[in-house]
Amino acid sequence: MHAREGAQYGGVLKVPPPKLVCMRSFRIGSLFGIPIKLDFTFLLVLPLFAYLIGTRIGPVAELLNVGLGAEIDVGAISGGATPWVLGLTAAVGLFVGVVLHELGHSLTAQRYGFPIDSITLWLFGGIASFSEMPEDWRQELTIAIAGPIVSVLVGIGSYGLYALVPGVLGDASPTLFNGARFVLGYLALLNVSLAIFNMLPAFPMDGGRVLRALLARSKPYARATQQAASVGKVFAVLMGLLGLFAFNIILIGVAFFVFIAASSEAQQVTMKAAFQDVTVGDIMTPASELHTVEPETTVAELIRRMFTERHTGYPVIDDAFEGERLIGLVTLSDARQIEPVERDAYTVEDVMTTDLQTITADSDAMTAIERMQEHGIGRLLVVAPSERLSADGTLEESSRDGGDLVGLISRSDVMTALDIVQQSGSVSPSSRPRTAD
Ligand SMILES: [Zn+2]
Repeated sequence: MHAREGAQYGGVLKVPPPKLVCMRSFRIGSLFGIPIKLDFTFLLVLPLFAYLIGTRIGPVAELLNVGLGAEIDVGAISGGATPWVLGLTAAVGLFVGVVLHELGHSLTAQRYGFPIDSITLWLFGGIASFSEMPEDWRQELTIAIAGPIVSVLVGIGSYGLYALVPGVLGDASPTLFNGARFVLGYLALLNVSLAIFNMLPAFPMDGGRVLRALLARSKPYARATQQAASVGKVFAVLMGLLGLFAFNIILIGVAFFVFIAASSEAQQVTMKAAFQDVTVGDIMTPASELHTVEPETTVAELIRRMFTERHTGYPVIDDAFEGERLIGLVTLSDARQIEPVERDAYTVEDVMTTDLQTITADSDAMTAIERMQEHGIGRLLVVAPSERLSADGTLEESSRDGGDLVGLISRSDVMTALDIVQQSGSVSPSSRPRTAD
């Protein structure tokens, strides 16, 4: 089964937080073995929602009277602390609905065998974090649609309770009677609205995931993701404009997060999906095409070569012994450490990096990207799969003597390969000569 990592399902105004949002959350319990967490931003948004609902008792009751024929007596629930009690009750009820929505996604995913890390309530609603996600379109479709279906059911359930109020609370005080009608009627409306809003095809919201699943029926996963993300960005811009015209800050915030999340998830998914069956050997620059330098080359000469050959990194090969031996890597930034006037006096050996980060040719291309990101470097030396590597990926001294360099993989190799995938929908490993075999 194909799977990718780190996907998330958002809840209410529900968008996964981008990485820049620092999540500080604490666990409040667990349901069906899934930890339920509260992010500290949720502690701001709960009282805010309670306040917003509390200040809008009149208009909301009016809406329910017109929409549901609720016949709520506003006078009975607008005195004293009642609006705030109702506001808080409705806000807590809304977030219970959000948790149930996320449980809908999570339990469906669990049924397919995908582990769920947690459900977190934060500023923009809820998030179910999955460590793995299906790429089978039927599974994704079912998981994505399960949340909105639960929200509709919660709405119907709230409406059922709302309808029972006259029979059960008919003799209660007007405050309790009208208050219960208000909260339950409002929750019926909110949960159904939640389902509808989440079904907007604004990837990565639920509707966008449904769209991607449907697109993935007939085209590669990477292509389907890009198209769904493009539709998501259009919706984000429309939401942002609507938010601006309506002076709705929440809508602008959601639009912003949808845009960022659509872009970053699309890129990540595209890379992972695109590079699923691609090895380092498929996309590296093979040793035969590699420009190398010798340790005794001067820094001035190195920089001249960098200008004319338009390369910014060279493996350093020592051929003084029998055969060739890889002894280091030299980059433009290494060379620039030497003042221009002194560049004739220094050699490559003086400035090169000998702490070499290597990767085997049969590794996944995605592993190479992750290793470059992890070490903050732009290129990795590719060695034959039989080379012994230490745990952190550096070449051990004993095997470095063998020095069997088969190629070099750089960020630009990766981006070029990604370009090809994005334009053709798939990468054909045979599109480049394989030297690693
Ligand atoms: Zn959802």
